[in-house]
Amino acid sequence: MNTRRLRSVAEAAEILRHGGLVAFPTETVYGLGADGLDPAAVRAVFAAKGRPADNPLILHVHDVVGAETVAVLDARARRLASGHWPGPLSLVLPARPQVPEEVRAGLPTVAVRCPRHPLALALIAAAGRPLAAPSANLSGRPSPTSAEAVLEDLDGRIDAVLDGGPCPLGLESTVVDCTGPTLRLLRLGALAAEDLGLEPRVGGGQALSPGMRHRHYAPRIPLRVVDDLGLALAEHPEAAVLCTAEQAARAHLAPGPAVYVLSADPVKRGAELYAALRLLERCGRPLILAAAVPDQGTDAAVMDRLRRAASGSQGGAGQGVDADRA
Ligand code: AMP
Ligand code: MG
Repeated sequence: MNTRRLRSVAEAAEILRHGGLVAFPTETVYGLGADGLDPAAVRAVFAAKGRPADNPLILHVHDVVGAETVAVLDARARRLASGHWPGPLSLVLPARPQVPEEVRAGLPTVAVRCPRHPLALALIAAAGRPLAAPSANLSGRPSPTSAEAVLEDLDGRIDAVLDGGPCPLGLESTVVDCTGPTLRLLRLGALAAEDLGLEPRVGGGQALSPGMRHRHYAPRIPLRVVDDLGLALAEHPEAAVLCTAEQAARAHLAPGPAVYVLSADPVKRGAELYAALRLLERCGRPLILAAAVPDQGTDAAVMDRLRRAASGSQGGAGQGVDADRA
């Protein structure tokens, strides 16, 4: 299959309406889109990514009316939607019967999001149906935040990528379970948990968010999260480094091909994270040392991704994450 690089929303929508796969930009990361009501198209998404069938997909809708066609929203869910949509918040809700089992991975619930990126909204409107769209990477790899990163993983495996440049937030959506008596955070993400009045800690348990069990975000070389960069570098002077300017200065490091200095602004460093991992894995060093940042705001999601990247990589001292590919 020849993967086309598109600028036209109409062409991308046409492919989706015929059961094809198109990666498209959202404000979080690039999604691998398919007709979310077509079981065969959804199965093709799992095949293209090498995604385990037990990891459900998020349905992307144009608005709350679109969400109502695939899920049941109570007053609480509607409040969350009106406060944070369009935006990087996915709500797990009771599914309506027309949602294919493949999307839900057999669960009675479905995750729904209305993204904020203008191209994503235009594409959903032009396709005229909800789009199932997990991150457009090979399972287990860092999520793609540019059309180039999508092609790095999926060239030849999908019909097209709609190129909208780099993603402004660069971290996946925050996932909240709205099916129980209290809201539960299932995945830390681009919307800070604190903005939802929740602790920045995942409280869903593995059974509720199957995706959290699997290997994720791992670069091709081992990654370790370290508290003291200077100490870690004394032990591993050959390592590549991911850190903030302040951490670099303390360790007497200057930016370079093997030293990626993240922005001082937490939202910007979230946006840089995956591109940085994809750059550092190619810099010729055997290991990445990632300096820890405090677990708060969007940095809580950055730390969650780094810990999981460490768990999934050969050199990581991970715990609680399966070694299988997700
Ligand atoms: P991805 O789109 O690849 O970034 O992953 C979607 C995330 O949402 C995964 O962690 C899934 O496990 C989670 N998810 C999707 N649907 C559901 C659902 N019905 N219940 C719980 N978690 C879900
Ligand atoms: Mg993903």
